[in-house]
Amino acid sequence: MMMPNAALEAAHLIDRLDRLARSGGASGDLNPAQWEALRFVSRANRFSRTPAALAEYLGSTRGTISQTLIALEQKGCITREESPRDRRSIMLELTAAGQRLLRDDPLRALASDLAKSAPERLEDIVDMLRDTLLTMLARNGGRPFGACYTCRHFASGGGSSARAPHRCKLLDEGLSESDSRAICIEQEPAAAS
Ligand code: SF4
Repeated sequence: MMMPNAALEAAHLIDRLDRLARSGGASGDLNPAQWEALRFVSRANRFSRTPAALAEYLGSTRGTISQTLIALEQKGCITREESPRDRRSIMLELTAAGQRLLRDDPLRALASDLAKSAPERLEDIVDMLRDTLLTMLARNGGRPFGACYTCRHFASGGGSSARAPHRCKLLDEGLSESDSRAICIEQEPAAAS
């Protein structure tokens, strides 16, 4: 039987999953906002690990983000240093303690539940959620912050060394394998082939 208004039902389910995942986010002495910031710092590339990019990613104000970053620094999870690329900018880096904390990230429980409930449909789910995100951004504005290897500026194998086998054609910078999986403020989705 065709489900009446399946899109609205899916929206309710996504909302409920989000709330339940967040309610588990108080573990590890971090509140949900601090977990979101810590995840961003662990996933973003070197062009994007700034307070301004984090504020844009979370759709938050610079003032709110600043409080969150101060708390994370006091807890020893991140450092805030002058950027080597732009001395007016702050670069965020994950510490070893931050990396350890992320091993117990409550979001991993949701990932595990997804893997158990739909192991053969995970790639379809990711594609569907990514398309939905892009549709929402087209309506509301904002950047996708997609993975580097999905960007139209990503040149696979275009780098000049073993440490940086790929290249960013926009920024003219070498990219490592881990860079290729990181999220980026400048990412623009490649056209579907
Ligand atoms: S290729 Fe795209 S996503 Fe990767 S660093 Fe360049 S602009 Fe960012």
